[in-house]
Amino acid sequence: MKELLIATKNAGKVKEFEDLFGELGFTVTSLLDYPSIEDVEETGVTFEQNATIKAEAISHLFGKIVVADDSGLFVDALGGEPGVYSARYAGMEKNDEANIQKLLTNLEDVPKEKRTARFHCALAVAIPDKETIVVEGTCEGMITTEKHGENGFGYDPIFFVPQLEKTMAQLDKETKNKISHRANALKELVPVMKQLF
Ligand code: IMP
Repeated sequence: MKELLIATKNAGKVKEFEDLFGELGFTVTSLLDYPSIEDVEETGVTFEQNATIKAEAISHLFGKIVVADDSGLFVDALGGEPGVYSARYAGMEKNDEANIQKLLTNLEDVPKEKRTARFHCALAVAIPDKETIVVEGTCEGMITTEKHGENGFGYDPIFFVPQLEKTMAQLDKETKNKISHRANALKELVPVMKQLF
């Protein structure tokens, strides 16, 4: 059976990969199975570079096919900020609440129609002795003026999804996993993997 190692310790992400790639005949493992492996430093300036750096580093270490992701939020009125710095927007300590407050403050004078934003996700597949493949997915939305909802993580409470008339944090996990940037990138990856293996 073909094995796919997911370069994350996030159980939610691992489950998404298991669901999709289990159906395609892959055995899915992750860094949850290898707790002593430390996080790979994200030194790139794009999501594509960071996902590639992570996937290739872990693939070299294990000699296996490895998938890694990198994602974040682009806000148009801020010229694409926080972008690749989404996790650490308000400081080196990853702090979702501080990040949200900084974003809301920076958007204080921006009217509703100009608060357009999108989540972006890059997925890289590193295959031993082959060139790394990268696919990307996005999810369009608007930044609210205050938080709504309790689910999810990161910027979910202030990311409004117009077609569902809810913030990401007001969606249940199944709904978010159908429309998210990661889901859209995964949809791109499925035909690529079918063709390759
Ligand atoms: P990572 O690539 O999953 O580490 O995400 C980087 C950062 O982007 C996170 O710390 C969040 O701030 C933000 N982010 C990425 N995906 C999401 C999402 O689905 N909801 C909310 N925030 C997200």
